[in-house]
Amino acid sequence: MRLTALTFDLDDTLWANRPVMERAEEEHYAWLDGEIGHAASFPLEEYTRRRMTLGLEHPLRRGDFTWLRHEAMKTMLRDFGHDDHEASHWSQVAIERFLVLRHELNPFPEASGILEELASHFRLGAITNGNVDLTRLALDHHFEFSIAAGEWLAPKPDARPFLAAMARLGSVPSTTLHVGDSWKEDALPAARLGMQVAWIDVKGLGAPGPLPAGVHVLSHVRELPALLIRLTGQALSS
Ligand SMILES: [Mg+2]
Repeated sequence: MRLTALTFDLDDTLWANRPVMERAEEEHYAWLDGEIGHAASFPLEEYTRRRMTLGLEHPLRRGDFTWLRHEAMKTMLRDFGHDDHEASHWSQVAIERFLVLRHELNPFPEASGILEELASHFRLGAITNGNVDLTRLALDHHFEFSIAAGEWLAPKPDARPFLAAMARLGSVPSTTLHVGDSWKEDALPAARLGMQVAWIDVKGLGAPGPLPAGVHVLSHVRELPALLIRLTGQALSS
């Protein structure tokens, strides 16, 4: 099989994201509370609930997590008694604080070496539904670009970020393999477009349905080079 390009999901594909988000969420909220003392009236659960409600009220922006955070925080701080100016100011600095913490993450130890090796054989792009900014991470230089699908208002499983990535990588579905941990947002949409897929079954639960053609199950990104050797019939060493 001839493959020319790889697209990568980021969160939970190249690092374990849950501990990163839990820490970022707790710490930025505690920091804000230290500045303005809002958390006794508006605990973290209230902020979470407001973000979810806002996402339901604005379905097009449901994947634009930074916007949801900002808007939910602003209205909450108005309800706490801040005027518009103060509410905007504090929500802005709180989100910036959150984003700093959100980028304090450790990619899997093998990730950089694997990407380095793959980049000499394939063109690499990233597609994320999350609000990680790849340019703030050391892994950035392996990729030609990163598509923030949520901020494009077309979060995966929407086909558009996949099609845009292939257009930029000069590839077509049959010559492109997508790597990701989500069955619904990575494996299914990429397979439906006719791409090859390395589905990383992080939880080891197995596919929730019959495995579509072209979907290969891995348990960790470290298994990716061996899969690519098997699929392409070529050695990868540069
Ligand atoms: Mg993911």
